Amino acid sequence: MKVNLFINNEDVTTEHYDEVKDPGRLSEVVGYIARGDANHIDAAVQSGHRAFQSWSQTSLEERMSILLKSAEEIERNAFFIASVTAKENGILLGRTVDEVKLGLMDMRNMIEMAPSAFQKRIIEDEGGWVSIVKRPMGVIACIVPWNAPIILTLQKITPILLAGNPIVVKPSPTASMGVVTLLRTMAKFFPPGVINVVPGGGDVGSALTSHPLVRKISFTGGGNTAVTIMKSAAETLKGVHFELGGNDPAIVLDDADLNEVAPKIVEGAFRRTGQFCFAIKRVYVPYSMYEEFYEKVCELSDSYKIGYQLNEETTMGPINNQLQYQRISELIDRLEESGANLVKLGKVLEPENWDNGYYLQPVVVRDVDPNAEIVICEQFGPVLPLIPYHTEEEVIQMANNSEFGLGSSIWSSDFDRALSVANQIEAGMTFINGHGQTLLGSKYIPFGGIKQSGIGREKSIEVFDEFIEYHGINFHKKNNVC
Ligand code: NAD
Repeated sequence: MKVNLFINNEDVTTEHYDEVKDPGRLSEVVGYIARGDANHIDAAVQSGHRAFQSWSQTSLEERMSILLKSAEEIERNAFFIASVTAKENGILLGRTVDEVKLGLMDMRNMIEMAPSAFQKRIIEDEGGWVSIVKRPMGVIACIVPWNAPIILTLQKITPILLAGNPIVVKPSPTASMGVVTLLRTMAKFFPPGVINVVPGGGDVGSALTSHPLVRKISFTGGGNTAVTIMKSAAETLKGVHFELGGNDPAIVLDDADLNEVAPKIVEGAFRRTGQFCFAIKRVYVPYSMYEEFYEKVCELSDSYKIGYQLNEETTMGPINNQLQYQRISELIDRLEESGANLVKLGKVLEPENWDNGYYLQPVVVRDVDPNAEIVICEQFGPVLPLIPYHTEEEVIQMANNSEFGLGSSIWSSDFDRALSVANQIEAGMTFINGHGQTLLGSKYIPFGGIKQSGIGREKSIEVFDEFIEYHGINFHKKNNVC
């Protein structure tokens, strides 16, 4: 499979194509992805800028209808998009099929909310008449990571397009083929230039974020990259919208039913091999139930079957890329060297292929110091520290002692008690007796984090204010200028 750049609704070939390796079968090449450069970025942004003239003038009803048609087309091609994505990024195929479905659900939810979000306000008194309209901004740069590329792309671009903005998307080098396939599938319903995608590395991202015709940058990825982007955006005073990393705490209260809670916590930590922004990254457990909880977590973690992402038996796939694999392996090495009490669990499905992919076993670390590296950093992999605590006051303080503030969860049999703790947690989102959103939460909760976990939100009705400018018109009925 050879995947090109996509600019102005045309496939664009380049001189450079990068080999895409399967992270679960390093001996196999999945395909070849075009690598863009600064000239391609310029062509893509210029094409978006030209399209802005007419796209911004289309009615909201028309944009909604185009997005709905493209959602149907994605649905028809869902399995193909998911297969390409799973093979290149290592996430389980079944989970990636679900990811496309969830992305479509998010898309349709936001389309449904758009009419209320874009209502224009008219206010009148005897001296004047005022209208306040939400207008699109222009070309928006969309930069997405590799860990859940389809859902993250769909949730990012839907409100941007609905608002009347064209997009230039820069996917991650280790998950570009699926994203280009997704966007090509959608683009046929849009006027040329509204959807453009230029794969490549940091240099291509940087050409995009510094382009003077880009009006805002919407970025999902790591904090260090966000700092670089913010500096680049400052040169032309662009706005930034960041969805960044997390270090989500799960707080088990002493009235929790461990039989119910433990499986959900383990799943909340190890889903996607721990590679998701709001994965549980540290668990706080009262001393009184620590041993029992530890035993349960180990037993559950040991039931993971580690293997190839396309194997139906597999419940934990590989790590996405070499850099990330090395980073997590070194973190585990440092833990072992420091004498940490850890266990490597799970069943290896195909031992003969262990070194032919970026495979890691799930690791549970017990009796961890609240200030240990594994507690403070975002591990973004299958390593889970369990930290014991004495009092509610102490655990709230430990949970909030972080530069991150994305998700968090409280586990208890008493809703009022859990709610009271939830109200004291510094995070964009707090879940009770689950770690993730229910269908209702997915529609209405503004998704994102505080502190170094992000700037702005995605999804929900609140997202629409991220990608618009307000335009006010004031008619003077009589001479009463203030
Ligand atoms: P990353 O920051 O390395 O890369 C993200 C994207 O930025 C990629 O497309 C990359 O090519 C691009 N990029 C790199 N350098 C750039 C530059 N100088 N200018 C512009 N673009 C540049 O992150 P990653 O490793 O792909 O993803 C993992 C991180 O993403 C984790 O920290 C994770 O928590 C975070 N994440 C956050 C959310 C969220 O919604 N909050 C969701 C998923 C992932």
